[in-house]
Amino acid sequence: MGRDSTERALALESLRRWPDLDRELEGETGYRRGGGLRVAIDERAWYAAPEWVAEQRADGVPVELVDESAARALVPGIAPACVGGVYCAIDGQAAAVPTVHAFANAARRLGARIEEGIGARALEVEQGRVVAVVRTDGGRTPCDVAIVAAGAWSGLLLGPLGIDLPLRVRALQMLLSDPAPMALAPVVGCFDRGLSLKQLGDGAYLIGGGWPARIADEAANRYVIEETSVRGSLDVARAVYPPLEDATLAQSWAGLEAFTPDELPLLGPVSGIDGLFVAAGFSGHGFALAPAVGDVLARLALGRDARRDLWSGLHADRKSRAKPRA
Ligand SMILES: Cc1cc2nc3c(=O)[nH]c(=O)nc-3n(C[C@H](O)[C@H](O)[C@H](O)COP(=O)(O)OP(=O)(O)OC[C@H]3O[C@@H](n4cnc5c(N)ncnc54)[C@H](O)[C@@H]3O)c2cc1C
Repeated sequence: MGRDSTERALALESLRRWPDLDRELEGETGYRRGGGLRVAIDERAWYAAPEWVAEQRADGVPVELVDESAARALVPGIAPACVGGVYCAIDGQAAAVPTVHAFANAARRLGARIEEGIGARALEVEQGRVVAVVRTDGGRTPCDVAIVAAGAWSGLLLGPLGIDLPLRVRALQMLLSDPAPMALAPVVGCFDRGLSLKQLGDGAYLIGGGWPARIADEAANRYVIEETSVRGSLDVARAVYPPLEDATLAQSWAGLEAFTPDELPLLGPVSGIDGLFVAAGFSGHGFALAPAVGDVLARLALGRDARRDLWSGLHADRKSRAKPRA
């Protein structure tokens, strides 16, 4: 729920594929469809919720308004201040690292070669066409097609080719508690507050919501966790879900992520260079989109029907304008 209308088709297509991914990949993504609940803990947010629901339902997202008692039934322990919420039964969660391994292993079985510990240093372009990837080990891999999907570091490969994508890097913080008894099925968010709260398979609570860490060295992927962010994130999580008062914080970390001005990904071919495709700028919500994005990129690379209906507003060459703030 809550996806921008421009990426909704891509999100729904991904969601259609997630439940079957373990079978398809012959691996374990840890995917669990426990639903999602975004709660309102003040009247202002609650008044705005019906319009938010109607707009998404019109595009086929099965969100529904739930009153305070229904919200409490879905998430026992929710704050007494909760006045209601929006529930989406098809929302879910998966484990990031096992999912990456599941995709990588499936790709290997299908003949892909994955080289770890080696990066792409540069792309070679001749007569307007990408012809090779120069590797950090000094090697050169000739190619007909190259896909730049280097996350926060995509600009380092594209800049030297004169392609200036509007990417800005932010470090997003996550907190993890010690394992606690299982109590929370849905992913919990909150209107007007930075919160994404889920309970993992081992009982640990994972807390995010866009809280920033400080970037120390962008190229080297180094960041510093800010105490104010840790405190702010914990305060919101505990205010929305008071049982967290009893949970002990076990770990904090951050991930570097590329944001676009409109906070929507840049996808597809780049004009002026044949054979070059980009998938970058996922702006903090690209994990859920991965199954459909991968499919689109594979189709583009192979010259097959690229399902442009799914990403017509996300083209890499579009003008990305600042997202209006509510
Ligand atoms: C803390 C945090 C929480 C998040 N929570 C969610 C969530 O709940 N739901 C959701 O949908 N999304 C979430 N996201 C966003 C999601 O993780 C990203 O949008 C997604 O991982 C982006 O995928 P990507 O492949 O574009 O980039 P990345 O995942 O950053 O992967 C890029 C890869 O390219 C590699 N690379 C970089 N440069 C080179 C090079 N020159 N040569 C070779 N390889 C290179 C990097 O090492 C990296 O492995 C979260 C992100 C963060 C940081």
